[in-house]
Amino acid sequence: MWVLALAVGVPPWAATEDPEDPYGFGSWEARELDGGLYTFRYGYTRNIFIVTDDGVIVTDPISRDAATRLREEIRAVTDQPVRYVVYSHEHWDHVLGAQVFVDEGAKVVSHEACVPFFERRSHPDLVMPHQTFDGNHEIELGGRTLELIHLGRNHGECLVVMRPGGTRKLFIVDLVTAHRTPLGPLPDYHLPEYLESLRAIEAMDFDWMIGGHGPALAPRDAVTERREYLEALMAEVRRLLDEGMHWRAVPDAVELDEFAHLGGFDQNLRDNALRIALYFQMGW
Ligand SMILES: [Zn+2]
Repeated sequence: MWVLALAVGVPPWAATEDPEDPYGFGSWEARELDGGLYTFRYGYTRNIFIVTDDGVIVTDPISRDAATRLREEIRAVTDQPVRYVVYSHEHWDHVLGAQVFVDEGAKVVSHEACVPFFERRSHPDLVMPHQTFDGNHEIELGGRTLELIHLGRNHGECLVVMRPGGTRKLFIVDLVTAHRTPLGPLPDYHLPEYLESLRAIEAMDFDWMIGGHGPALAPRDAVTERREYLEALMAEVRRLLDEGMHWRAVPDAVELDEFAHLGGFDQNLRDNALRIALYFQMGW
């Protein structure tokens, strides 16, 4: 299916197979990836959900509107109630709207490091987690499992990489958007902890990533590609600073043509470089 999509001009980072709308703005879709493992895309954001004989495990509800659509998509494949809603991390573009599932009895689960953020930055559509955990955690339901792996601070403080049991797939939100450059100013990404987490993911045993943005499935090489882009950009920024260039001049001077094939390269390179120059100057 994806080979065909590429043949008609859909970029590899696209969330849809429509060359006119690769970001999928205004559309949504649920797709079964493995027996009982689904991905739900709402616009350019996606989650996973797992259907079991004892209920459904949902991950990021995304938004109130997205969660309402997601509930309809779940109802189309099972009568089982949603038992858990698991937050990937603390950012509002992924975790709003869980109330629609809480209303049918679901418990909201997150890493405990999300809670201080939620207490500082509440939102009317945010449901505070009912259950939190430290370190790693595993949810078991109806003979299925969802492993939650906390690699420390990287993007935010509480992000978990998720592994649906019995699959060779990881659900990775925001740490990697396959075949794209990172979002401009690298918002809430902590360097170099972010690089350490990418290396930790590369050391894991899996074949495919399901991204919180981008295509439903991308090969594991997408993680390496993201790390290599960041390392190359950091080395180039470091080189320019070491030559005595002021950090304000770095974004206009940086060149990284070997990564120009990545999605969003022209839009993001300068802002990525500025953020990295500031890291080297100030340590954050
Ligand atoms: Zn985020």
